[in-house]
Amino acid sequence: MEEKKTAHQLLADSIKFVLVGTTHPGNIGASARAIKTMGLSKLFLVNPKDFPNDVAFYRAKAAKDVLEQAEIHPDLFSATKDCELIIGTSARNRKIPWPLVSPREASQEIVQALQQGVNKVAVVFGREDRGLTNEELGMCNLHVHIPTNEEYSSLNLSQAVQILSYETRLAMLEHYDLVEKPEWDVELADNEQTERLITHLDELMQEVNFYDTQNPRKLLTRVRRFFKRARIDKMEANIFRGLFSAVQKNLRK
Ligand code: SAH
Repeated sequence: MEEKKTAHQLLADSIKFVLVGTTHPGNIGASARAIKTMGLSKLFLVNPKDFPNDVAFYRAKAAKDVLEQAEIHPDLFSATKDCELIIGTSARNRKIPWPLVSPREASQEIVQALQQGVNKVAVVFGREDRGLTNEELGMCNLHVHIPTNEEYSSLNLSQAVQILSYETRLAMLEHYDLVEKPEWDVELADNEQTERLITHLDELMQEVNFYDTQNPRKLLTRVRRFFKRARIDKMEANIFRGLFSAVQKNLRK
């Protein structure tokens, strides 16, 4: 039986980013960098105007391997023949509406498809000046639009690539529960410590006549809310307890 692929393998093996008719080699290099930082590796170039080119390699920085392995194809059909899900990106609305989703929804579609046994997914990007043709968009199952400013909706190609690859990575990591959340360095204070701290502060406030004990209004509730909201840790509780004690000691001298 085939072993289950991990999130990282799926990102690297099953998703290709296809750039159609790119004019500027710099955008190809920057796109290679964008996808590699997100754990993707498959870059397909359809009829690039100027590639290979030093500028592309320069802009790729440490993602030169992605460029070296990039497949070049004469047209979009040839680049996506083996794909079961094709997602086209578009900076503007087209005449005939197509299922249109946000990058977040598109990424969830990708994760779901891979879970359901789809092996190859393509995300397709258009030319810097004209985007994708209607024919190319017609080859896609879904269209994705990055919700940009309506008065200026067109991102730089590699920035659109970055957004789509980031969302895809995030959706994949979330699905596999791999989003890293650093452990707090100190255990959180328990209820007894927090309550004692609040009582201690109240004691101190009374000692310095900070409020009228006959009419405290909402003061204690607000103080309590502050500490509960902060969810203080044991060390923070000790620091404040130590401070309050030191102040009291000096007051009583
Ligand atoms: N003037 C072109 C803009 C192309 S920008 C047009 O109107 O289509 C180059 C490519 O970047 C686009 O084809 C698309 O792949 C991507 N892109 C730029 N802005 C985008 C957006 N807001 N949503 C989705 N993709 C976008």
